Amino acid sequence: MLHDADCLFCKIVQGAIPSEKVYEDEEILAFKDIHPAAPIHLLIIPKKHIPMLELAEPSDVPLLGRMMELAPKLAKEQGCKSGKEGGFKVMVHNGADGGQEVYHLHLHVLGGPRPWKK
Ligand code: 5GP
Ligand code: ZN
Repeated sequence: MLHDADCLFCKIVQGAIPSEKVYEDEEILAFKDIHPAAPIHLLIIPKKHIPMLELAEPSDVPLLGRMMELAPKLAKEQGCKSGKEGGFKVMVHNGADGGQEVYHLHLHVLGGPRPWKK
């Protein structure tokens, strides 16, 4: 299944719900979190509907790797300082006990000058 009609992030991928996009290619979309938990808070998602990590296929591994590879690039573009004095946090909420609310896999990228809570 490429998209799930009931999935919020699939609707964002399809443009049915607007988002502040910061990156897009054939397989990946990145946009600003609507409720930022840090000065910089991005979400990096696969365009295809992968609900959670254990539902990723072996053939999705390069896609997951590319999402991770994008994190430092987009963090820098959005204003995170590079290196030891700057940096950012990457998080995946996976399942109810992992705090997941939207069941379409996404990387949270959080950064900007501390203090911020997460
Ligand atoms: P999680 O599922 O990892 O707990 O978090 C989902 C994230 O999606 C939350 O940080 C929430 O603020 C964000 N979010 C929920 N709805 C929307 C939306 O319609 N647009 C955007 N840009 N972010 C959203
Ligand atoms: Zn989806």
